[in-house]
Amino acid sequence: METITLSIDGKNVHCPQGTSILDAADQNGIKIPRLCHHPDLKPFGACRICIVEDEKSGRLMASCVTPAAPDMQVLTDSPTIIKHRRNIVRLMMAEHPESCLVCSKGNRCQLRKIATELSLAQTDLYPMHNYKPLEQANPFITRDLSKCILCGKCIRADHELVVVGAIDYHFRGFKSRPSTVHDVPLEKSSCSFCGSCVSICPTGALLPNNTTHAGTPEKESPSICGFCGVGCSLNLGIIDNQVVEINPSSFKDSSNGSTLCVRGHFAHDFLNSQARLSNPMIRKEEELEPVHWDEALDLVADRLTEIKKRFGPTSIGFFGSSKCSNEENYLFQKIARVLMETNNVDNGGYLTGRSLISWLDKQTEGGWRINPLPSLENAESIVVVGANPTHSLPVVSYYIKRAAKNGTPVIVIDPRRTDMARSSSVWLPISPDKDVELLNCITAKLWKKFGHDSNFIDRFTEGITQFSDGLSSFNAKRLCVEAGVEMEALERAVEMLAGKKIAFVIGHGILQQRNGSHSIEAIFNLSLLTGSLGHKNGGIYVLAKENNQLGAGDMGAIPYALPGCQLINNEVGRKQWEKNWAVKLSPDPGLNMIRMIEEAENGNLKALFIMGENPLRSLPQRERVQKALGNLDFLVVQDILATETHKVADVVLPGAAFSEKGGSFTNLEGRIQSFEPTVPPPGEAKPDWEILDLLYGRMGSSETYSSLEKIREEIHHLVPMYEETGLDGRISWVKNTSRMGVFSPEGKGEPIPFSPIASAENGKSHAGYDFKAILGSQRHHLGSGTRTSHSARICGLESNGEVELAPEDGAELGLEDGDIVRISSPSGSIAREVKVNRNLVQGLIFVPVAFHNNDALQLIELTRLNKAGMKECWVKIERQ
Ligand code: SF4
Repeated sequence: METITLSIDGKNVHCPQGTSILDAADQNGIKIPRLCHHPDLKPFGACRICIVEDEKSGRLMASCVTPAAPDMQVLTDSPTIIKHRRNIVRLMMAEHPESCLVCSKGNRCQLRKIATELSLAQTDLYPMHNYKPLEQANPFITRDLSKCILCGKCIRADHELVVVGAIDYHFRGFKSRPSTVHDVPLEKSSCSFCGSCVSICPTGALLPNNTTHAGTPEKESPSICGFCGVGCSLNLGIIDNQVVEINPSSFKDSSNGSTLCVRGHFAHDFLNSQARLSNPMIRKEEELEPVHWDEALDLVADRLTEIKKRFGPTSIGFFGSSKCSNEENYLFQKIARVLMETNNVDNGGYLTGRSLISWLDKQTEGGWRINPLPSLENAESIVVVGANPTHSLPVVSYYIKRAAKNGTPVIVIDPRRTDMARSSSVWLPISPDKDVELLNCITAKLWKKFGHDSNFIDRFTEGITQFSDGLSSFNAKRLCVEAGVEMEALERAVEMLAGKKIAFVIGHGILQQRNGSHSIEAIFNLSLLTGSLGHKNGGIYVLAKENNQLGAGDMGAIPYALPGCQLINNEVGRKQWEKNWAVKLSPDPGLNMIRMIEEAENGNLKALFIMGENPLRSLPQRERVQKALGNLDFLVVQDILATETHKVADVVLPGAAFSEKGGSFTNLEGRIQSFEPTVPPPGEAKPDWEILDLLYGRMGSSETYSSLEKIREEIHHLVPMYEETGLDGRISWVKNTSRMGVFSPEGKGEPIPFSPIASAENGKSHAGYDFKAILGSQRHHLGSGTRTSHSARICGLESNGEVELAPEDGAELGLEDGDIVRISSPSGSIAREVKVNRNLVQGLIFVPVAFHNNDALQLIELTRLNKAGMKECWVKIERQ
């Protein structure tokens, strides 16, 4: 692009043609005030604060919407400009209520800041207050539209960034304001309460609820969201050592830009919950009593050492956390393997599809991992399978919706007409049993229509002949008839995908599904056939539910692999770690979480150390799990909140939340993000790595780490995938160590084989259980809801976790909204209110998890998790 030269305030500046005057000034350190402009939004030119003067022509222009032109002589603060800018602000102030002293926007109000810069201390025009009633009925956002300056930033954030369309300008003239369709309250609109409008509002018109009059945060510190696998960058607003406000940190190249979701923005009030654990405790005479750290740590070290001596290393289990940091999971599994000599170590990622992630790691030697989210917006096509990111990982849905808005074909394969399906080009509603067949039919059709990438196949894969022979057995017409999918929709999807690279977005409808392993093979084969794997505008995005699901596995908090995904039964990898740690390691994989519970039931597991997980809420069949935990000789729980599990522990160790400690998380893109402590933990609580380090010294290690940096350094030196980890707190990426040609910059290396075509298991219902129940999250809660159920704002929502069913099923059973039903499976039953949802197909019901102490998991059989996921089961419905 041609570079032009112009003068701004007497300084010669150069910029590419087409750059706005405002951007040219910004790029050269010349500050022009603005209210309606934001770098992530399209220029709008509404507020006119950014006016500048062309000295040559005397023309006044809004610099945000005027392109810089060669030889312009721009003045940003000439007497004429200052006069006009003052007049604009005077008019705004005349309309603005005089409540600045009690406005929580405080010194961050950009209108007030600009008024001060222009020496406009008082309104000298006749006040024309445009009074509007305060709206704060919902638990998240307070709207005081009396303070709205009509900059349109909230509307544009809603339309351009999160693509929801909940608000727009309504009414005309003096009455004009942002409003929902039909001016209904926000809670009755399609607003998802992501809070992006709140963060971007320049005045106090939009503020987080419950913090009114909390005042301006004393400081803002950067951090990383502790909820889902997107790992959004945050700014924590702090008053009196408490996090009182959260906004996106909006730095360039973050995973979330200027957006967050309702959890990241508003649910972090759980950090200040009364339920935070603040003292170490020991069970004495049936009650947990606060004790000094030394007493609690000595007891843990002594009892675990004694049990190991008496019953052997395999009598002890360690259940780590996909919410704790890489450093903590590394140290946790090291204590298990090196000091306790057991491979019985697992983490909560087990519950959310780890086995399929491990399969992908194995097939590609980890090469599939690095997929930056911004690339989704440049994808040639997107296929969303078994995922509803609008609820599970909302920031991912923003990327997909923005791509769809720009014309990228988006194909959604899901039995429910989700919000994602409504934004798609083609929705293929298919029962989870038929996913595999459908994906294989698409692959077969693309092969037949020459929609594949033969160059990629020749260069990077092997086994195409055998694979393509197997495709001939798929009959799309028969599938469409059997599955109730329109053939025309399938043809349209194939047409859209032919010759294009595909970005696959897969979620828990695959990861936690009975046929998930075959679905992932079908997706993988399709990604090879179309040359999408490893392509910068394609690839496979796995929606990791927990913030450090991938990192916990990479750090070896899994029973079958050492840090760096080295399989424990691989002699070369194991020997390397024996050398690294100067110990002998058992080659036998340990017990996963479910097997640990089974062995506790059998009396073979004697002690369990749980860090940052709440199995009494997150595992199915609570009574059974409780009985198993009750069978143990010794149970240690290290956590930040009072949980169902901490109540049955022998020793409780209070840990620190992400905002109170340092560490790093690895997000779903393969991005390793470091964070630092911003506030102290409550009471006596300590960072989890520090607790583990204190135990490390007490349990037989001659040396301790004494600092987080030393643990980081060890990971950096010993785990090749993490050798680029930022020791200085900078962001880094998981290193690509795959030897496969497709992931090598030179395109040289091993070929990737196509996987054998498998047919899916047919999910037969049990007699009398005629409905298939899909269990899933709603956007306000995450996972089992242990943390979000301690958020006052999330609990302030009116939702009661209603079970959703199709209108035809409602009519047949004589059920209407609000009726109470009992849902039963062969494993258990729950009572719920009913909500009729026309986006469901007949015979399918949706049961939201996390509500009512996550009792929905009673419908699943515990040991089924060893073979399949916990996303679906057969149930019957009876009116109560
Ligand atoms: Fe946090 Fe995930 Fe929401 Fe981002 S999308 S704010 S990481 S919960």
